[in-house]
Amino acid sequence: MCEIQRINKLKRVAKRITENIRSVDPLKLYSSNFVSPSGLTYTDIDEKLDKISSCASIIELKETFIQTGEHDYEQVMQVAAANYCKQHTICPICADRTQARRRARYNDPIKEQAARVREGERHAYIVTYTVTDGVSLGERLDHLKESKKAFRLMGQKRHSKRSLGEAAKFKAAISTIEIKRGERSGKWHVHCHDLVFSDSPVDYQVYDKEKKRKLVDKYGNHIPKEKLNDAALFKVNFDGNQVAASKVSMEWYKATGGDSMSISVEPLRQVPKNCSGKKKRMFQKMTFEESVAYQAKEVLKYISKPSSNTPEDSIDIITETFNKRMVATYGEFRTVAGDDFNDPAAPDENTFVLVWDEKKGKYGEPQPGKVRDLIEDEETAHDTRIKAGKLLGNYRRQRKFLMGEKNKYGDELFVLLDASKQRYRAGVNALWKLYRQHVGAEKRLNYAVFEGCDKYSPTIALAGMFIPGSDRRDIFHQSFS
Ligand SMILES: [Zn+2]
Repeated sequence: MCEIQRINKLKRVAKRITENIRSVDPLKLYSSNFVSPSGLTYTDIDEKLDKISSCASIIELKETFIQTGEHDYEQVMQVAAANYCKQHTICPICADRTQARRRARYNDPIKEQAARVREGERHAYIVTYTVTDGVSLGERLDHLKESKKAFRLMGQKRHSKRSLGEAAKFKAAISTIEIKRGERSGKWHVHCHDLVFSDSPVDYQVYDKEKKRKLVDKYGNHIPKEKLNDAALFKVNFDGNQVAASKVSMEWYKATGGDSMSISVEPLRQVPKNCSGKKKRMFQKMTFEESVAYQAKEVLKYISKPSSNTPEDSIDIITETFNKRMVATYGEFRTVAGDDFNDPAAPDENTFVLVWDEKKGKYGEPQPGKVRDLIEDEETAHDTRIKAGKLLGNYRRQRKFLMGEKNKYGDELFVLLDASKQRYRAGVNALWKLYRQHVGAEKRLNYAVFEGCDKYSPTIALAGMFIPGSDRRDIFHQSFS
């Protein structure tokens, strides 16, 4: 069962990363009254680290069939659900899960667009938008977001006239932000990769074709820079130099407020450029649609590489990406449904649960069942979950209010935020206490003798899990994210 080997490996990576962060203890650099611009207090960050260590301590696998050829099917085990920590920018398990789920969910919609490219109705590109490296991750993320918004606005219709912005041509797009340290600058390097399908060709030509051809005839590969610049369609004053630009890079330059003109537009072909040998043969064998879907994987990838972030950077990523959208869809991709974590089993598919064994450092044997059997009683918990959701809504509004008034509260801000969190948790705790009283004694007994767990499971308790009737730990750890 290679799926189990894979999740065991990921869980060990997550454990190693959190142990590494804990041993360095980058939180010691933060004072207890710290509040991040995104509204996280010291204790919030501390808990988020804990959540990575307990991520996917219970996993549900489903026995399903995948199509391997036109008429070939193979029975496989796939992850259906787990108690994920949902911090996909920093947790290796959640990064892997969201990447795999997005690739699976967008596979067919991407192929449908690719079929239209084949018919000449659409054009496919990978567009990479970059902003200049900077010291503040949060500020750079906001700048990228604002710049993209300005770029899109240039493409919006105004007064029944279509504006001339290139973004007006984009009919479907999916965008993933990537965060890393710039190799040369050492500062935060923030950029995003978009898979774009447009209804007419994107104008990314830098030089006048005819003029450039004449220059190549005259100078071969050694065209003097000033001559080449004269052949440019657009010129931008960037860092004190006249830089040759295309229409799209000029628009990006304007959208970033002159901060950057780095936008790369790479058209997707059956066989990508600079592709040779085995890889070239692989692309040649594929249909055009399959090739586009394969190349799209480059766009639907990790936000950051969890194992290559330093402990200090990991904390930065946790605080600065909190509540920020890192993946976005536009146009015709907006309607693609589904979620980044759950892939529920069909009623006729068998499911098994695996519980992480902290002592052995691996998952225990699969037992028939579902994650929700271990976490909560689906039917009777429904009402309670709705009420808990309302409390969460109130809590989030309160946080937003406090963050809006942060200048007024100053050093007291973290006290108010933490107190608000405590009140919220006490409320949720009380709700679930009530829920447990309503669950019948018979039901409790059933869960207590759930196959594979005796009346009190220290493994599950350790992992912060709650089994009604067998464990007094509270379920709100699961519902709080
Ligand atoms: Zn996680």
